[in-house]
Amino acid sequence: MRWYNNFSVGVAMALAVTACSDSSSRKYFETTGLRTPASACTVDPRSLGQAKAMPDIDEGNGCEVRDRYSVSSLAGVRFSQSATMNCGLAAPLNTWLDGTVQSSAVDAFGERVVGIDVAASYACRGRNNARGAKMSEHGFGNAIDISAFTLESGRKVSVLADWNGDRAAKKFLRQVRGEACGEFSTVLGPGSDAHHRDHIHLDLQNRRSGNAYCH
Ligand SMILES: [Zn+2]
Repeated sequence: MRWYNNFSVGVAMALAVTACSDSSSRKYFETTGLRTPASACTVDPRSLGQAKAMPDIDEGNGCEVRDRYSVSSLAGVRFSQSATMNCGLAAPLNTWLDGTVQSSAVDAFGERVVGIDVAASYACRGRNNARGAKMSEHGFGNAIDISAFTLESGRKVSVLADWNGDRAAKKFLRQVRGEACGEFSTVLGPGSDAHHRDHIHLDLQNRRSGNAYCH
């Protein structure tokens, strides 16, 4: 999913915005009603895995990452690429990987997960990459997209290929997605819509209602 890559989308967006700076009424995404992430950073991500503190991002258009970290592993699980996230996302992600993901993997496959494929983390864009949509939680560094899990044996369990794969993979993927709800405030994946058929989206959207959205 090269087109989904954070950097290329960010750069393309920046170029597009620059190109259209004389028509400021043109909006690529909507920010009305969005609330900045509320999750306080109670745990230093550097104590949970490989993480580096980075300067905050503020693109001036709604996209901003405060308490930014570049994270390349959590709970002993290595990331396929380092993920840019706000500090508050690291602890729940660590908890989910260490608890739900490992116990589900041992349960389904008899082995542990050693890696995840990170399809996206920080990205300044509208939801589902749609023009005119609300800004995605990815624009706050408050979301991560996971497209596959790698087991100790080297087997890769892919959301796209294995959602309807063998019994163990089906059970594992449904379990990790289902139990992410609560730890995260939004959980999307195959069946949510066409955009999520190949990854599990996890975020900590700060809804006024406080309700989780897991579909
Ligand atoms: Zn996502």
